[in-house]
Amino acid sequence: MAEAPRRQPQDNLTDDALATMSAGRCPECGYRGFVLGPRGGMSQNIECGNTKCRTRFNVLCVSGEIVMGSYIPRESEGGGTWPSAWGSGK
Ligand SMILES: [Zn+2]
Repeated sequence: MAEAPRRQPQDNLTDDALATMSAGRCPECGYRGFVLGPRGGMSQNIECGNTKCRTRFNVLCVSGEIVMGSYIPRESEGGGTWPSAWGSGK
């Protein structure tokens, strides 16, 4: 794996973080609400709805519970543009 420049985008979420997200809140900033990104198979990409945070996660959601997940790069960190996410316009 190549070294990440700043953060570790592929870090797995802790159990605490998973529980926080299952409750609908961002484990990074506590904001309530996520923007849904692309879905592939059983995994769903989501982004924190706080425009100052926008931390992104790739999660596995089963019956409304987030059972697994990891951090993925923000759009500003090289992540893809999500058509369904907030407009990236200024
Ligand atoms: Zn957040």
